[in-house]
Amino acid sequence: MLSDIEIARNAKLVDIRKIAAELGLQEDDVKLYGKYIAKIDHRLLKKLSERPNGKLILVTAITPTPAGEGKTTTSIGLSMALNKIGKRSIVTLREPSLGPVFGVKGGAAGGGYSQVLPMEDINLHFTGDIHAVTAAHNLIAAMIDAHVNHGNELKIDIRKIFWKRAIDMNDRALRQIVIGLGGSANGYPREDGFIITAASELMAVLCLASDLGDLKRRIGEIVIAQSEEKGLVRVRDLKAEGAATVLLKDAINPNLVQTIENTPALVHGGPFANIAHGTNSLIATKLALKLADYVVTEAGFAADLGAQKFLDFVAPTGGLFVDLAVVVASIRALKYHGGVNKDELGKENIEAVVRGMENLKVHVENLEKYGVPVVVALNKFATDTEAEIEAVIENCPVTCVVNEAYSKGSEGAIELAKTVIDTIQRQPSNYKPLVDQNLSVEEKIELIAKEIYRAGRVVYTDTARSKLSMIKKYGFGNYPVIIAKTQNSISDDPKKINAPRGYEFTVRDFLISAGAGFVVALAGEIMLLPGLPKIPAAVNIDIDESGEIIGLF
Ligand code: ADP
Ligand code: MG
Repeated sequence: MLSDIEIARNAKLVDIRKIAAELGLQEDDVKLYGKYIAKIDHRLLKKLSERPNGKLILVTAITPTPAGEGKTTTSIGLSMALNKIGKRSIVTLREPSLGPVFGVKGGAAGGGYSQVLPMEDINLHFTGDIHAVTAAHNLIAAMIDAHVNHGNELKIDIRKIFWKRAIDMNDRALRQIVIGLGGSANGYPREDGFIITAASELMAVLCLASDLGDLKRRIGEIVIAQSEEKGLVRVRDLKAEGAATVLLKDAINPNLVQTIENTPALVHGGPFANIAHGTNSLIATKLALKLADYVVTEAGFAADLGAQKFLDFVAPTGGLFVDLAVVVASIRALKYHGGVNKDELGKENIEAVVRGMENLKVHVENLEKYGVPVVVALNKFATDTEAEIEAVIENCPVTCVVNEAYSKGSEGAIELAKTVIDTIQRQPSNYKPLVDQNLSVEEKIELIAKEIYRAGRVVYTDTARSKLSMIKKYGFGNYPVIIAKTQNSISDDPKKINAPRGYEFTVRDFLISAGAGFVVALAGEIMLLPGLPKIPAAVNIDIDESGEIIGLF
């Protein structure tokens, strides 16, 4: 098979104005970024508010191997197939971050014959949204240090500044640094650090805001530091929210691109799926629901992380109804959970596949607790054998469809598309969040840990306990909770594969994301600035005199 970039280069793109016109967009609603990319004015959402919403399909996955099991590829393939059988469908996705593009994982614009295009632009600077978030983030950081330097009227405790710097690159050397060195002209020396832009609260805020006013209000709420009197210092105390919003005025508008089969895609926003909610912007999803009959959206990481956050937090925040969940599974991940070594995942092993189905069953059962119908999409890899596929279909608790969108494009996902439509019609969703927002932070954690992560009990470290009392003191005691934990296990321990249960779930710390509107419970070491591996993807990325890029995959 050709590489992703070769397949992308062979595809015939159509003028983005044609895609926009087919969606019924007017010239004034779109701003062109060249011939194949456009931004849609987010205010269109208000104009279309009377229109009924299309159906919302949430794509999630079983607990993955480190390679990723194909959520993006499946989302794109499913949306293309829905269009192919005559339905209006839009796929909504997150924007790739440069860190992983040049690091281990590679691009995030799908794969094979299931991609969004132009993949080089989408994977690189695209429309500059992520850079805009970086700039807005660092503006706030600069204003904090300037404020301290010029007399520190807010009495910011320089040992308690929570707002770090941001960069869209995997650079472990910047995790912990000392700034302000070189004498009094350069301010006060203090410890600081960088986080990757996707982990910035501004990214979460951008993806949750309903309009510019809401964006500005949320940015103003962000807690940046503690004062010497132990009060909270917010962005609005620095009067930085207006300027930060100005820097994000275009970033708030969803990006319209096309799939490899010229169907519409909105690629917008890219928050982390551990310390944030992990889905593309609410504006993009809401807009897609006004413009299409079926919207396919991807939630980051596995179902215990991305789908739980979507169903308990994102959808309620945006007033969205979820009609169906697609759980992506792969034979290699099932074998991995069945105890097979990473280097032997390519060999047939039916017993291991069946053992690993326990992981899939937990995720399906979890999603059913939200009242949404579930379809399993088995992402077919070249090494899968017929007997292994049979074993999955036979043992699957819900309908399981083999998806070959990666190698065949929409043709390979037609059965999946038909099954999705049929299931939505036969089995209307009774979607309801599992977590009652009136519960306390501890009660919410208890509920998610036991019902979704299958833990026996929840314990708190001393640090977590003291942070929790601080959270209550500042009035966040009943806030929504976003739990940050490993994506490699249903539990908080990446080594517990398959379907662990009855274990002790440990909460180590809390963060306050007052602008995004949640507190983060940290269950494990969460890396906010990844590093590059020994041989990063960057080593194989190159360009020739005619501008042809190689090595982006
Ligand atoms: P996720 O969104 O779950 O992280 P992606 O859809 O991005 O997963 O896929 C992860 C990687 O695996 C990508 O590089 C993609 O091209 C590749 N991939 C996905 N499906 C297949 C498949 N069926 N065969 C081979 N490679 C695949
Ligand atoms: Mg993905």
